[in-house]
Amino acid sequence: MFDKIVIANRGEIALRILRACKELGIKTVAVHSDVDRDLKHVRLADEAVCIGPASSLDSYLNIPAIISAAEVTDAEAIHPGYGFLSENADFSEKVSLSGFAFIGPKAETIRMMGDKISAKKAMLAAGIPCVPGNGEPLTDDNQTNIKIAHEIGYPIIVKASGGGGGRGMRVVHTEAALINAIALTKAEAAAAFNNDVLYMEKFLEDPRHIEFQVLADSHGNAIHLGERDCSMQRRHQKVVEEAPAPGLTDEQRNTMGNLCTKACKDIGYLGAGTFEFLYEKGDFFFIEMNTRVQVEHPVTEMITGFDIVKEQLRIAAGEPLSKTQDEITFTGHAIECRLNAEDSKTFMPCPGTIEQFHMPGGPGIRCETHIYNGYTVPPYYDSMIGKLIAHGENRASAIARMQTALQEMVVDGIKTNIPLQVDIMADSAFQAGEQNIHYLEKKLGLS
Ligand code: ADP
Repeated sequence: MFDKIVIANRGEIALRILRACKELGIKTVAVHSDVDRDLKHVRLADEAVCIGPASSLDSYLNIPAIISAAEVTDAEAIHPGYGFLSENADFSEKVSLSGFAFIGPKAETIRMMGDKISAKKAMLAAGIPCVPGNGEPLTDDNQTNIKIAHEIGYPIIVKASGGGGGRGMRVVHTEAALINAIALTKAEAAAAFNNDVLYMEKFLEDPRHIEFQVLADSHGNAIHLGERDCSMQRRHQKVVEEAPAPGLTDEQRNTMGNLCTKACKDIGYLGAGTFEFLYEKGDFFFIEMNTRVQVEHPVTEMITGFDIVKEQLRIAAGEPLSKTQDEITFTGHAIECRLNAEDSKTFMPCPGTIEQFHMPGGPGIRCETHIYNGYTVPPYYDSMIGKLIAHGENRASAIARMQTALQEMVVDGIKTNIPLQVDIMADSAFQAGEQNIHYLEKKLGLS
C-alpha cells in the first residue's frame, strides 16, 4: 500500500479521500488554492501545499503545480477525486510519466471514454446496448445530416463528442430546426471543450437515468455494485440519487451488471467506474462511462457496505479486489440529496460565510460535507457544499429518515437548496418512484 498520496481536489470529496487514507494508514498531502487554506481537509492532512491562486485554471487544473507538489512531498500517488483533472487523460499520463501512480484508469481508457463517439463504439463492440444513432461524427454536409436524422427519427439530440457536465447537447424536434441546431452546438462545443466534433442520437422522451457502479483490478477481476437511479435532474445535472433503482428486478440488475463487468474486462478497465444508461420501457441505452469516483457513490456504499474510495486506493496499489461478485449483497435503500449553496428558487449561487451549521444525525444518516461554523464558501468553484445520505430498510424508510434529517439540518448565513430537497422528498410522484429525467424541470415549471 502507498505510504503517502496527494489529494488533487477540494471540498467534500477531498475530505472523503482523506478519511479513506487515514483508515488505510496512508499519509496525505492536500494541495489547495490560496483561498482554500481553511478547507477542513487542508487542516486535517499531514501536509499541505498551496498550488496557486483562486482560479481553478491556475490551481486545481494546474498540472505542473500538482505534480511538483507530489515531488516535493515525496508522495507516491495522486487521487484526482471527481471534476477538475479526474477525467483528463493528459494529466493521468503526465502523472505516470513523472513516476507517480494515478488513482484511476489508464490514460488510454480515459481518452477513449472521454470521447463519447469512441466510447459508444467500444461499448457496442462489448455488447452493451446504446442509444440508437449511427455513432459517427457529423460532417458539414447538410443533406447527409438531414438523412441521418430522418433515419433515426425525430426527436433527436445533437451531442458534442467531447462534452461533459450536462453541456454541449441540443434537442431537435423537426427537420426545419436541424441545420441551425447543429451549427449552434458545434460553435458551443468548440468554445467549451475545444473540440467541435458532434454526433446525433435518438432523443428518448421520458427515460430514467440508471447507472451501474463497477470496480476492476489489475489482475483481470471486475465486479459491479448494482445500480443507482439519478433521474431527478436539473439542466442534465443530478439533484437526488438513490440505490437501488425503484422497480428494477434482480434479473435486470444481474443482466446489466454482468454486461458491464464483461465490458470492463474487454477494455482492460482499471479502478472505479460508472456505466451510465438511459432506461425506458424496460430497455437500457448506454450514454457514457465516467472513469472516476462519482458524487453519488455513497448510496451504493450504504446498501453494499463496500468502501469504494478505499478500494480505489487498493486497486491503484496493485492489490486484487477485496470481494468477489458472489460476496456482494444489497441491503435496504439509500437516497442522497446534493446540498448546494444556492437560492432554492432561482438557483443563483450563494457563496458567503456560514454562521451556524448543525449536522443532522440518527440511524442511517450520513453527512458528507466540508463545511463548519464560520467557514466561508468561496465564489470560485462549484456550489455544492455537501451531500446528505439516508439509508433505511426500504425506500419509504430512507425517505422518512431523509425528511427528518433535512428538517434537523441548519445552515445559516448562506442560502441553500435544502427547501427544494424538502419539496422533492414530499413529492407524491417521487415517493411513488415515478420520476424520470424531465420530471424535476416540469415540476419546477422550467420546461
Ligand atoms: P454529460 O457528459 O454532459 O453528463 P451525458 O451524455 O451523460 O452528458 O448526458 C447527461 C444527461 O443528458 C442525461 O442524464 C440525460 O438527462 C440527458 N441526455 C443525454 N442523452 C440523451 C438522449 N439521447 N435522450 C434523452 N436525454 C439525453
